[in-house]
Amino acid sequence: LNRRLAEFGTTIFAEMSALALSTGAINLGQGFPDTDGPEEVREAAVRALRDGRGNQYPPGPGVPELRTAVAAHQRRRYGLSYDPDTEVLVTAGATEAIAASLLALVEPGDEVIAFEPYYDSYAACIAMAGGRRVPVTLRAHEDEGRFRLDLDELRDAVTDRTRLLLINTPHNPTGTVLTREELAAIAELAVERDLLVVTDEVYEHLVFDEAEHVPLATFPGMRERTVTISSSGKTFSFTGWKVGWVTAAPELVTAVRSAKQYLTYVSAGPFQYAVAEALALPESYFTAFRDDMLVKRNLLAAGLEEAGFRVFRPSGTYFVTTDIRPLGESDGFAFCRALPERAGVVAIPNAVFYDHREEGAPFVRFAFCKRTGVLEEAVRRLKGVG
Ligand code: PMP
Ligand code: GLN
Repeated sequence: LNRRLAEFGTTIFAEMSALALSTGAINLGQGFPDTDGPEEVREAAVRALRDGRGNQYPPGPGVPELRTAVAAHQRRRYGLSYDPDTEVLVTAGATEAIAASLLALVEPGDEVIAFEPYYDSYAACIAMAGGRRVPVTLRAHEDEGRFRLDLDELRDAVTDRTRLLLINTPHNPTGTVLTREELAAIAELAVERDLLVVTDEVYEHLVFDEAEHVPLATFPGMRERTVTISSSGKTFSFTGWKVGWVTAAPELVTAVRSAKQYLTYVSAGPFQYAVAEALALPESYFTAFRDDMLVKRNLLAAGLEEAGFRVFRPSGTYFVTTDIRPLGESDGFAFCRALPERAGVVAIPNAVFYDHREEGAPFVRFAFCKRTGVLEEAVRRLKGVG
């Protein structure tokens, strides 16, 4: 393994899912639903396969049906208008969108600012692009029950070598959803310092309570400098399909596409047709999906609280971050490695998402995108750990 990647090894998700398999523990680690997405969308994929749509290399930017559906979704939901032919690119999941964006837009030595804790592929992709990651820590505010961005710290992190802000809202793993005010301040900073922004919005439909998802591209001066990323994995519960997309101004999409051409060339054809149909589902699908996830969030958050964890009730995503110190523990790694034996549950130590590992040490993430019965059993088991 070369020096750029030496520090990354195996992803925590693979390690923890393997641990779940070998111990038979309930896997609340890796974020994937244990129920597949809508039947009619699966049928749409089968139809595409049978009818021979997408069985050979689809067009590089993605099939027109999906690009049109992505543009329609952005317009309908956020009033953002993108030309399906020049401003939408289909990718192999959000993961490839992130990689291709960074490879296309970052010069070796450029600084890339990302929130810490960050989704693990960010650090690896910044490294592959030869960039330098500059983490800005989202800090736990117990009084507010959430992790919050310190805007002054963000401003201070920008230097003359900063090329790009890599934003993620709703945020994995903390569940923080950036507010309109925070987003407006980020936008102002980006415009003032002439920065590009890549924004990972894969949890755009999983927002709870009073929180609201507002795409960064909707703020003044942002549309032309923002690459917005989303994916069908989270919104439609098809994480195995790996269909994601990018929306951005033509020059940015062209750049990202140049990188994508040499990563995967194209993304799996038949699934693109099915996801086009999924994006056109009635509003009731999205509402029901969110409401269902909200019930699960409440169940797991309450159960973890009863078991003695300090819970940061997420405003978005399908993850709950907890602080294990009230249990008399302080090392999330050790805690997660022992948890399958102790309680028959697998979780993720947030420390892996930090450069400042000690900042993340006491935090542990649990996924709640699981059937209610599974969550209830997990909660029952976790009651014993305190
Ligand atoms: N970004 C974030 C914040 C994620 O949590 C994930 C994981 N699902 C991804 C990107 C990757 O998405 P995909 O599965 O579409 O590649
Ligand atoms: N996004 C998922 C998570 O955060 C996992 C994705 C992966 O395994 N790479 O759990």
